[in-house]
Amino acid sequence: MTQTQSDTGVAKDRSMLMQKAMMGRHYDRLTSVQESGAKVCSTFVPGNLNELVMCFDLVNNLPETNAIQNGLRKKSGNFVMEAERLGHSEDVCTYVKSDIGMLAKGNLAPNGKPLPDPDVLLLSYTGCFTFMKWFELLRDQYGCPTIMLHVPYQGDGRVTDNMRDYVVKQLKEEVIPTLERVSGVKFDIDRLREYLRESVAAEDKLVRVLESAKHRPSPIDAYFGGIYYIGPIFGAFRGTPEATEFYTALEQEVEARRAAGQGPITPDGPMGPERYRLVVEGPPNYTSFRDFWKMFYGEGAVVVASSYTKVGGVYDMGFRHDPDRPLETLAEYCFGCYTNRSLPQRIKMLARYVEEYQADGFLTNSIKSCNSFSAGQLLIMREVERRTGKPAGFIESDLVDPRYFSAANIRNRLESYFQMIEQKRRGRVPAGGVA
Ligand code: SF4
Repeated sequence: MTQTQSDTGVAKDRSMLMQKAMMGRHYDRLTSVQESGAKVCSTFVPGNLNELVMCFDLVNNLPETNAIQNGLRKKSGNFVMEAERLGHSEDVCTYVKSDIGMLAKGNLAPNGKPLPDPDVLLLSYTGCFTFMKWFELLRDQYGCPTIMLHVPYQGDGRVTDNMRDYVVKQLKEEVIPTLERVSGVKFDIDRLREYLRESVAAEDKLVRVLESAKHRPSPIDAYFGGIYYIGPIFGAFRGTPEATEFYTALEQEVEARRAAGQGPITPDGPMGPERYRLVVEGPPNYTSFRDFWKMFYGEGAVVVASSYTKVGGVYDMGFRHDPDRPLETLAEYCFGCYTNRSLPQRIKMLARYVEEYQADGFLTNSIKSCNSFSAGQLLIMREVERRTGKPAGFIESDLVDPRYFSAANIRNRLESYFQMIEQKRRGRVPAGGVA
């Protein structure tokens, strides 16, 4: 049996429960550093150097993950308003405001215990300017050592040797020496290789899980369900045997559903007949996550591929960490993150998803406060539609600010979008008709 009921009555895959338990262990570890004596490194999901961080026995704290947890628990709204009360503008990314508001209100982890102050801030800058401003705020708050790993943007869609050398030089001359100084642990490149080997095992399995959505019906939802699937590998577990164990179990679970011709498990149980296959661009809304998902599965719509599940690494395009080139591979990982990719690269990738996953349409969820994703989304939408001939749809919400989730508006838009897909199937909608 792979499906079970959680204590809140929501149907969950066994892997979802495993993922929840892993998150719980992560937060317990983080909130017990005073007893364990471990030091803490705050860093972001895109471009996170988890394998390197672990070489120094540092515990990884990811502010976006904290904001997501607060969104799912419906706590972020108050934090966002607290940050605005402190002077942060309405337009600022709500992950940042949730984090700043949480700091002002006791900085409690989901387990109810206070999060520790970081000993070091490690910013791998992979395309989103907000990351830089966010860590400037945290540096003011904590006054701890701050490392900025500058990763050049893939402006013309390629990584040159010079770009790679530039990042490796920073790793050797700034990142590693600072982490040694903060942690008191000497860098051991063989230890890094070991972690990277473990990462590859998990990456292979994750890709097979994501690609299972090419089947009909898709055994997974690659956006809403995908959030659970990426948690361990995008967070504090990449490079650990625990992550490999998780992805082994996940792959088995998904393969069993595929073999039985079943669709994804939704919060209301197994999904009904698959009617619409979508590719989705943009992050989800977390404050009404379950209601949002229901607007899709309630209509028989499954997301077969999404860009959001690539923010912490684009593995389905072939990238794997390479233990034989440990520092170069960390640099290449950072270059490839979705937020560091140019618009033409994003368009190519999304159009490929529409074709390869035999999607019926391409839907954009435009996030009010995420400039990094939203800039260029209309252009992306038009171009993907032109290349694939599949209808494009557009909805708007926000990450963790509940004031910008209008259920009625989104439902109306989705209903007309699904009708448009139906009409297109019957050959009645000219290309360019956007819901
Ligand atoms: S990518 Fe978007 S959501 Fe993430 S930090 Fe940047 S602006 Fe915020």
